[in-house]
Amino acid sequence: MISTEETIKIVPIKKSRLDDVDFENLPFGRVFSDHMFEMDYIDGQWTNMTVHPYKNLSLSPASSVLHYGQAIFEGMKAYKNSDDEIFLFRARDNANRMNSSARRLCMPEIPKELFLEALLSLVKIDSKWVPDIAGFSLYIRPFMIATDSYIGVKASETYKFLIFTCPVGAYYAEPLKVKIEQFYSRAAEGGIGRTKAAGNYAASLFPAMMAKKQGYHQLIWTDAKEHKYIEESGTMNVMFVVDNILYTPTTSGTILPGITRDSVLTIAKDWGMEVQESSIHVEELVTALKEGRVQEAFGTGTAATIARISTIGYNDKDYELPPFSENDFSIRVAERLEDIKRGKANDRFGWICKIDPDSNISINCLN
Ligand SMILES: *Cc1c(COP(=O)(O)O)cnc(C)c1O
Repeated sequence: MISTEETIKIVPIKKSRLDDVDFENLPFGRVFSDHMFEMDYIDGQWTNMTVHPYKNLSLSPASSVLHYGQAIFEGMKAYKNSDDEIFLFRARDNANRMNSSARRLCMPEIPKELFLEALLSLVKIDSKWVPDIAGFSLYIRPFMIATDSYIGVKASETYKFLIFTCPVGAYYAEPLKVKIEQFYSRAAEGGIGRTKAAGNYAASLFPAMMAKKQGYHQLIWTDAKEHKYIEESGTMNVMFVVDNILYTPTTSGTILPGITRDSVLTIAKDWGMEVQESSIHVEELVTALKEGRVQEAFGTGTAATIARISTIGYNDKDYELPPFSENDFSIRVAERLEDIKRGKANDRFGWICKIDPDSNISINCLN
């Protein structure tokens, strides 16, 4: 399926580390599966495609990624159900988004079939690392870095694309206390907010730390120009249910077009819920909070799927949201998504593909 003549070389690990993993006490993102995928971009071509044991990289200290930050990533998950079946969720959308980030950062695109084939080879060889516990999954981290050994400021000519995976449990346990940010910005119009560029996260750390000092878990970003409009919550897209209508900001240039966001909106519409994708004025949201009309607020993203917000801070005042109930939209949609991802609910939108570790054919994963 790969467009070049090259195929993926597989170098298996001598002894799996799986038995050493304590799945009962799994920290997020610190335990890495046996293998990783690696390939190089040299002379305008992707080459050296290899699945090999997880190991450190060796880089020149002058590697351009270390100085000027040409680095992009993706985040996705593989899910296993009680029948030992493994599924990927909307992997093609991650491939497309990776390429859209690559274009914005002057980095080479990856042919979609190659991205998916790399992903499949890795998940197959580490299929035993996909936890079958409810809420658990195999987090997949594809990323690309610039590797020219040159400290002039220009787009690198060589790159590495890598994928590693981590078995993970549930992400946010407790409901979030968030603060509407009125000074710092995550992304400005014309910038790189809509890409998964590493630098976006570096820039968010200080404001997030300040919010934590004030007793919040995270912040709600507002537009960089006037701080008048809601953008995202931490590293998630944000949604509100007000008067039974689902509101979320439009993904303009400053907002990351989340795949979970799109999935939640699609299901909401399918259920006949009214959905409003539009700009959300901070003052209007605060008025609705004061009037007790905000029924639910939550973040959406691959890591947490849905992260409920319990408190929103604005102008030194905290607004409490109503207690959760089983019937809440965010709880029902989280359950539906979980069922789709594990092949338990009808996959009406064609979002999942099944990985068969023993077969070379993974039905509809590659097209
Ligand atoms: C990755 C990410 C999201 C969520 O995207 P998903 O595709 O749903 O995981 C939202 N906002 C930011 C800033 C992100 O980096």
